[in-house]
This record gives sequence, structure tokens and C-alpha cells, in this order.
Amino acid sequence: MKLQKKIVTNKNLRKFNSLQISVKSKYYLECKTDSDLDVAFQFIKKNKIKFLILGEGTNVVFTKPFEGLVIKNAFKKEKKIYKNKVKVSSGYNWDRFVSFCIKNSLYGLENLSGIPGTVGAGPIQNIGAYGAEISDYIEHIEVFNFKTGNIEILNNMNCNFDYRNSLFKKNKHLFIKNIFFELKEKFIANNSYQDLQVYNFKKASELRKSILKIRNQKLENYLIKPNVGSFFKNPLIKKKDLKKLLSQEADLKFYKHNELIKVSAAWLIERCNFKGMQFNKARVSKKHSLVLINEDKSPNSIINLKNKIKNIVLTKYNIRLEEEPTIIS
Ligand SMILES: Cc1cc2nc3c(=O)[nH]c(=O)nc-3n(C[C@H](O)[C@H](O)[C@H](O)COP(=O)(O)OP(=O)(O)OC[C@H]3O[C@@H](n4cnc5c(N)ncnc54)[C@H](O)[C@@H]3O)c2cc1C
Repeated sequence: MKLQKKIVTNKNLRKFNSLQISVKSKYYLECKTDSDLDVAFQFIKKNKIKFLILGEGTNVVFTKPFEGLVIKNAFKKEKKIYKNKVKVSSGYNWDRFVSFCIKNSLYGLENLSGIPGTVGAGPIQNIGAYGAEISDYIEHIEVFNFKTGNIEILNNMNCNFDYRNSLFKKNKHLFIKNIFFELKEKFIANNSYQDLQVYNFKKASELRKSILKIRNQKLENYLIKPNVGSFFKNPLIKKKDLKKLLSQEADLKFYKHNELIKVSAAWLIERCNFKGMQFNKARVSKKHSLVLINEDKSPNSIINLKNKIKNIVLTKYNIRLEEEPTIIS
């Protein structure tokens, strides 16, 4: 196999995933430009190998060496404002982008302050926090289609955004290249989240500051305690199943979600006595039971722990927890 100069072989990905799992990727390419994308496209087509798009690796779990091409997103060139709209390259850091918008008097993203990762990974699981979701502010997305080699435009409506879900989750051949946001020119605080209701925010920067403070208190710093944020989604159940659960657990934590009921996964995990528990080289955070901390170079500890949690929750409540990060197998 003839390799383009830019393609690196046997690249250790430890520094490129926030769980700090030490696995190698057979091939690795940093993509900064359209011509890099074309190199990746030709290489994949010619050698018929699998590939993985990687941002900052804060929402992936590697389970074994990756036998294909890792395409590391390094598109950072563009950040252009057109009145209340902004075009931004997908490799740009998300939190820096939020800060940039506030500084330029464009509002809406403040509640999503402090979420790690790249702008381009935001739509994949429709990142959300403190009463806001990225999909509320996306106008359209420009993608590079790795099946056809073409650039395509997807409007917000075509992205099938939902709770921690989108069309991109099942269409891994779409590389998000640029995102066009439509923001607000007037700041109206979104303090729908309980912890924010006590404040009367006059400025977006004040709201951002509070969000960063809350996140700091509630979540683990992944640079010190390797984690991927919430390891499980809050399960959605039918209304008829809620009655049965409530007869089992009268103080169950749940919320309405359209026609369904969203049950707090953190509550379920806590009730199964996992909070703060250590198993081999992985543990459940003492601060937040949805956060699993990895202390192992190999993926075994974290995979065993998440399976243990899933099994016990299933046995006790007949609820199948679903992983929030992408499990790379
Ligand atoms: C401490 C901590 C707190 C967190 N808090 C939150 C939170 O509050 N809310 C929330 O929603 N998430 C949260 N997360 C999860 C994570 O920050 C987000 O999912 C983020 O969007 C991941 O960005 P990334 O660049 O690291 O993506 P990666 O981990 O690199 O990739 C994640 C997935 O997106 C795909 N992908 C990445 N970039 C692209 C692209 N350009 N085109 C197509 N596919 C792509 C990858 O293939 C992979 O499937 C948290 C994570 C951590 C570690």
C-alpha cells in the first residue's frame, strides 16, 4: 500500500481521547484543508478501509486498536459573522466559540458554556445542558460526504435532531465541515434550569460565568480525572411503565419528554449503590454518578464497569441504559 506523506501509521491515540485509553490507530491523518479531506477520501476508497472522524475525543470510548484511518478534525480557519448569523469551521473549540459569540453580542449559546470538544461534534449527539441544545441555534450544516466525495448542505430540519441524537449518529460517512448558526441579537436569559432560577442575569457573560461555576462544582475535570462526561443517556420510557416503576420506587426522579417519560439515569445508578464505587482501575464519580472515571491504559476497566452498571440497572428496574459516548469497536 502506497502511503501519502501526511498519513501516519500506528499512531497512539492516548492523547486524543479524554479517557486516556492507550490504543493505536493503524492510519492517522490530520485534516486541515479540503485537499487533506481528498487525501483521506482517496485513501479510504482505494484501500477499502474503515475510518473514524475524531474531534477532541471527549465523547468516544476506544475498546481496541483501530484498524483503519482516524481522520482528526483540524479545520479551524473560518469564523465569520453575517449580522445575526455565524459561519464557523468544525475543528474550532466549542467553548471558545461560545465565548466569541457572547463577545460579539450574539446570544443563545451561553447555557452550553464549558462543554468540551469541537464545534463539529456538537450536532452529533445534539449537545445540551442547562435547558438548551445546540440544535436550537443551527441554521444549516455543510458536510463532506465520504461515500460520494461531495459537499452537501443539510438544513436544521434534515438533521433529525432529538435528545442526544441526530441523523449523524447513524451516518458516520458525513464529515461536518462548517456550521452556520442563527443567534439572537438581544440577550434574554434562559434560566429554566432549577439552579439558575435564583439569579436575575442582566448580561450573557454573567450567565456564562454561573454555568461555568456550576459545571466546575458538579462535574469532574477530565484532564485530571479522565472521563467522557455523562456515560449514559437518561432512559425514555412509556407512560404506562412509569406506574410500575413508581410502585417500586416512590421517589423516582423523572421528567416529561413529549409523549414519553425521561427517567434520571443518575438516580437509577445511585439507587443501585454505585456512586463513588471503585472496580479495578475505573470508578463512579463521587460528585456525579453518571460520570465514570478511568485510571487504566487499557479499556478493560471502564468497559467492565459500564457493563456491570447496565446489568444491575436492567435486573433491578428492567431498564436498558444506553451509552451516551460513541463506543468504537
Ligand atoms: C467533562 C465532560 C463534560 C461534558 N458535558 C457535556 C454536556 O454537558 N452536554 C453534552 O451534550 N455533552 C457533554 N460532554 C460530551 C462531549 O463534550 C460532547 O459530546 C462533545 O460534542 C464532543 O466533542 P469532541 O470534539 O470531543 O468529539 P469526539 O469525542 O472526538 O467525537 C464524538 C463523536 O462525534 C463524531 N464526530 C466528531 N467530529 C465530527 C465531525 N466534524 N463530523 C462528523 N462526526 C464527528 C465522532 O466520530 C464521534 O462519533 C462532556 C464531556 C466531558 C468530558
